[in-house]
Amino acid sequence: MTCIFCQIVAHELPADIVYEDKELAVFKDINPDAPVHLLIVPKRHFDSLNSLDEETANIAAKMFITAKRMAEAQGIQSGYRIMINTGREAGQVIRHLHMHLMGGWGRKPGRR
Ligand code: AMP
Ligand code: ZN
Repeated sequence: MTCIFCQIVAHELPADIVYEDKELAVFKDINPDAPVHLLIVPKRHFDSLNSLDEETANIAAKMFITAKRMAEAQGIQSGYRIMINTGREAGQVIRHLHMHLMGGWGRKPGRR
């Protein structure tokens, strides 16, 4: 029953939270795949994108616009990638909906 991302957004587990509001939290990925790698996580638990529907689509819209704002705040708005892994076979490990925001490759030469 315990969900690690539910615990992080409830401040029951530590994370490097860079932004939060009523609906979502943004924190640094613990095992980054890019110089900037943030996770955009709704505070309400959804197992995956498959759990959203028309009534909860506003969550997805909020995640996208927050990704854009975080890219601006991190100074990577000239080039960034967002990703939502959905389902185990696609690489979803944490069963709590989250969006990856990755970028910063041009900022730190030598890293991908
Ligand atoms: P996914 O494979 O899409 O489910 O992504 C899960 C991501 O969560 C991975 O990139 C992990 O590195 C990251 N992650 C797992 N546990 C934590 C944690 N406690 N704090 C921050 N990021 C985490
Ligand atoms: Zn959860």
